[in-house]
Parts: sequence; C-alpha cells; structure tokens
Amino acid sequence: MNYFYGPVPSRRLGFSLGVDLIPKKVCSFDCLYCQLVKTTKKIITRFTYVDEVGFKKELKEIIKKNPKIDYITLSGSGEPTLHKNLDRIILAIKKITKTRFPVCVITNSSLLYRKNVRSELRQADLIIPSLDAATRKTFNRINRPHKSLSFKKIIDGLVSLRKEFKGEIWLEVMLVGGINDSLEEAEKFKKIIQKIKPNKIQLNLPVRPSETKISLPCPKRIKTIEKIITGSRKVALSFCRKQRKTSLDTKGEILKYLTRRPAGLSDLVNSLGMNSQQAVKFLKDLLKQRVIKQYIYKRKKYFVIKND
Ligand code: SF4
Repeated sequence: MNYFYGPVPSRRLGFSLGVDLIPKKVCSFDCLYCQLVKTTKKIITRFTYVDEVGFKKELKEIIKKNPKIDYITLSGSGEPTLHKNLDRIILAIKKITKTRFPVCVITNSSLLYRKNVRSELRQADLIIPSLDAATRKTFNRINRPHKSLSFKKIIDGLVSLRKEFKGEIWLEVMLVGGINDSLEEAEKFKKIIQKIKPNKIQLNLPVRPSETKISLPCPKRIKTIEKIITGSRKVALSFCRKQRKTSLDTKGEILKYLTRRPAGLSDLVNSLGMNSQQAVKFLKDLLKQRVIKQYIYKRKKYFVIKND
C-alpha cells in the first residue's frame, strides 16, 4: 500500500506531502462535486485502515528523498477522521520527522461533533474543515451525508473544535452554482462563520470533473458572496501556477495522481511540477498502453485511470 503522494505544490499549503489513509471510496458524505468516484461505503463508524509499520517505513523513505516539504497533509481518497486513532498517525509523523513539518488535516467536518475525534485532532498544527451549506436543506443536497448525520451536528462540531483547538483553522466553502450560491444562503453562512471563528476562510469552486453535472456560480455572484461571507477576513480563491523541475517527472507519479482523481494536462503540470512536454509524452504512452483514457469535460480534456 502507498500511503503517501507528492509532495505536490498546493495552492494553499506550498509543497504538501499528501497522506492517504482511507480506501477509495469510504466516506461519510457523497458530495455532488466530489472529484473522486461516487462513495461506495458511506459510513460513520471508524476503523483502523493503516498498517502502522508499513506507514512508518514508507514515510522514512520519503523523508530521505524529499527534503522540501511545507506541510504533511492528511486528506486523500475519503474522510481521514474515519481512521480510528488518528492521533497515533499524527504523532508517528511528528516523531519520524522530528516535528520538522507541520501536519495539516483536511476534513469534511462530519465527525467533529465527537469529543474523541476533536481530541485526536489536537495533535495537528492546521485543520482545514469544510462547510458547504448554511441550511439543512442545502447540506443534504450538496453533501448527501450518511443518514445519521445532521446539519446541526456539523455546526456544533465546528464550534466546539474552535473552542478546543489551539492551532489554525481554515474553513473551506465550496460554492456550487444554483445550490449554495444564493444571497440568502450567503447571509446565513456569514452568521454561522461568526460562531465558528476560523482563522481564515477559503472559497473554492468545483472546477474539476465530478460524476454529477454541476455548474459554477457566475463571477459577479462569487464577488458578492465573498464580500458578504468574509467581510474583512482573508480569502483564498487563487490557483497555484508555480512550476518546478523535480525528480517526480515519471510516469509513475502521473499514474499515482490519476489513481486518486481525474486531471487535465495543466493540473498534472502544476500539481506535479512537471515539464509539460514530458507530461504529454508520458500521457501519450499511457493512452497507447490503454492504462488511462481521456474525455472532455466543460471543454477541457481530462485523463483518468481506465478501470474497464
Ligand atoms: S467529503 Fe470529500 S471525499 Fe467525501 S464525498 Fe465529499 S468531496 Fe468526496
């Protein structure tokens, strides 16, 4: 099992070494905009997915090869807090790396209502929870949660996390056209966010392909929502275009990336810091070998692993 991917340049985190603890696709949500496949196992019961011995061995090897890391980020192919005893994983990372790199957890916020989950997360340096809805109706429509999760539980969890967690919290809101981009919803978001008190708010757009067809809010509406929701707070809406030459210029890194999510040429070039000519060559080879396939989504060409 490969638990790690990258480090990849991330628009939010610099060079981020991704940690994938959960098999595809185990999640407590089945979001409309999910860029992975549809959730096949929608659960809220936590299990131990990681073989800690293998995990530690892989991390030690990566650390030896990649000294340039800004964050070690737990996210991946499902909801990371579904891994039982997440604090053991975070502490193992800190021990092996001698706390050289801050640890970030990206979560859909679904299990934050549980005290033990919040307490395990205290070991992280940064938490990026998401909140895509300001009403119960929108929550059910956009996140399609496990039946025992309620909108109230999500908000209560986020408010409690803020009270207990001493590190940074960057709240992420995915804006989906026609679903959570009304001005009424934005006003409600504002009130909820005032209770959560994140250090930063990040508005995101579902620019990558998902199984369900969704639209983007119009640019004028995004600006208005940004103003209503964030007031004077910091907002991150930009996309990283930074490139670098690294030893990642291999077919293997492309395959590893595409196993997790579909990507266009520019996504691969930007995320893996690859030379674009070399990426084109690798993609052509992989298409020829029928390992990947291509398709067009919103006038952009995407590549994905061929499963059939
Ligand atoms: S929480 Fe994340 S992984 Fe789960 S369905 Fe939503 S977008 Fe996909």
